[in-house]
Amino acid sequence: MTIERIIQKFKENHPGEDTTVLSLAFEFASVAHANQKRQSGESYIQHPLHTAYILTEIKADLATVAAGLLHDVPEDTDRTLEDIKILFGPDIAMLVEGITKLGKIKYRGVERYRENLKKMFLAMSSDLRVIFIKFCDRLNNLRTLESLPPEKQKRIAQETLEIYVPIASLLGISRLKWQMEDICFKFLYPEEYQELEYKYEVEKKVERNRFFQKVKSILNPKLMEAGIQYTIEVRFKHLYSIYLKMQKKERKFNEIYDVFALRLIVPTIDDCYKSLGVIHTLWKPWPNRFKDYIAVPKPNGYRSLHTTVFGPEGKATEFQIRTQEMHEESIYGLAAHWYYKIQKGSESYKTPGWVEEILDIQKEISNTNELVKKIKLNIFQDRIFVFSPRGDVFELPEHATPIDFAYAVHTNIGNKAAGAIINDKFGSLDQKLKNGDFVEIVTEKNRPYPNRDWLKFVKTKRARDHIKQFAKKSTLENIRKFIPGIKK
Ligand code: MN
Repeated sequence: MTIERIIQKFKENHPGEDTTVLSLAFEFASVAHANQKRQSGESYIQHPLHTAYILTEIKADLATVAAGLLHDVPEDTDRTLEDIKILFGPDIAMLVEGITKLGKIKYRGVERYRENLKKMFLAMSSDLRVIFIKFCDRLNNLRTLESLPPEKQKRIAQETLEIYVPIASLLGISRLKWQMEDICFKFLYPEEYQELEYKYEVEKKVERNRFFQKVKSILNPKLMEAGIQYTIEVRFKHLYSIYLKMQKKERKFNEIYDVFALRLIVPTIDDCYKSLGVIHTLWKPWPNRFKDYIAVPKPNGYRSLHTTVFGPEGKATEFQIRTQEMHEESIYGLAAHWYYKIQKGSESYKTPGWVEEILDIQKEISNTNELVKKIKLNIFQDRIFVFSPRGDVFELPEHATPIDFAYAVHTNIGNKAAGAIINDKFGSLDQKLKNGDFVEIVTEKNRPYPNRDWLKFVKTKRARDHIKQFAKKSTLENIRKFIPGIKK
């Protein structure tokens, strides 16, 4: 991979934009990672380059691609986040910081790690660009999984399926989702993967092409007659999705009837319904296999018409009909959505609630950077996620303080709290913590009780209950000291 290819790809989607910052980010990262090698033996810079390239494929903006190039610099080299901030500005530095924080989650037991990672993703979701970078980073790591020991391969694949894939699906980034799934499938179930790959890729390839040509030759004149411009392609079925289908319905490969699937891309929504009419006139539709996801989109915003017909030779043939815009949205998810809204303007459609909120904010702002900055996903707004020095993540209510954090970690740490170090700087015990803060509590061994004054600012019930309990006890003990004869 080269920086030239990245810049070229970026300009396809953002013509006329000044890409100097990409060249500079590349120079900076190359020098920083010089002499470092990946496990596979290739030079380290290839990894950020590939990450950045995948980002341009999902049409990410300039700052995001630049951050993709820089994403491993603070963690793995002598250059710091502060250097990046000075050279590339706060926006890019903020994205790199997000990725660096995600990387700080340590692996200590499967359950805990997954929980921490999930929480951290939620914390970072206030700027979805961080998640996009993390996903592209992960995809490149998956593609080079070959060079890791088998134990680690399995763990990474499992974790990707459990955490990354559902989030990618939620955000509608199906392109990343499928690619991740098929790689994970290969490492987790190598035998099943190979068998399916052989059947699907090798055995069926010739047959698929012959059938495709036949459908095309029948469909083409009818669509031309109806005045519909179109492109048609064989829909690539993903091995993992075939595998899941076989599991769920306990069917054999040959019985998965919609393995032959075609995709029709037409200029307008009107053309979608017109083409559907053409297809249904040519071939009889299967009962209950028609879905109108244009009128009623899927929760992640996916739109298309789906139908299965008794095609040529009586073979079940599935069609997906959509516009170019719907097509790109189905592949790039929210990323494409922003891109389209910003680049071209478009008709709106029904979207899930939380996406709706993003879109509302978006309507008010025309500039991409401003837009992404202002996006706060309301579902996570009343919670913050705070790191312990060991890399555990604690979920706290908004405006929680170091004392709340201390009690969340351990009762004894709460009771003996004397000071707080927040993001490597001394902080006060009553200051409001922010999402993603790293907090270390300084304890005082001989401190007998928690301070009753803490009740004035703590936010969690847990902290309040413990402080009250000790306050009561300390009052009683004080009374006992003054009245020596009293019975315990
Ligand atoms: Mn990386």
